[in-house]
Amino acid sequence: MITSISGTQIEYYFFCKRQLWLFSHQLNREQESDIVMMGKVIHEESYEREKKEIRIGENLVLDFADVQAKVIHEVKKSNKMEKAHEWQLKYYLYCLREFGVDDFRGELNYPKLRKTVSVELTEADIQKLEEVIMDIGRINAGSAPEAVKKKPCLKCAYYEYCFC
Ligand code: SF4
Repeated sequence: MITSISGTQIEYYFFCKRQLWLFSHQLNREQESDIVMMGKVIHEESYEREKKEIRIGENLVLDFADVQAKVIHEVKKSNKMEKAHEWQLKYYLYCLREFGVDDFRGELNYPKLRKTVSVELTEADIQKLEEVIMDIGRINAGSAPEAVKKKPCLKCAYYEYCFC
């Protein structure tokens, strides 16, 4: 099932359904967020030499890939949303598999923390991702999910949309 869903939408699905909805409806405040900007700076400074963004289909952009080692990489600033990051990378592996490339694994890189997390795609993950893709379609077709305040909201680019 090749989809038009982006890796960011998968990440937001696992983090906050309202964030997913706002992003999907182009209410994109991310360019204005200092936190997001910091993430981009860390990414650019840490991986200048390896940096080779890779496109899969029309909607997916991988941070970089080591084709010889068969590893795709996703670079993140903090591991507070590690579960969401893992699913984003699993989704990229899922899409690669849909294009007939099924022998890659993923690596999450947290340069600020000097931490690396290896990510594999299992049969159970494939099933789960197919449910998630359907659920994202359902969420985006409805009205915006209610804002529920939690600690990470303070650092979210949509904070003002939700609580001001
Ligand atoms: S501020 Fe909180 S509730 Fe609103 S989109 Fe961000 S994470 Fe979700």
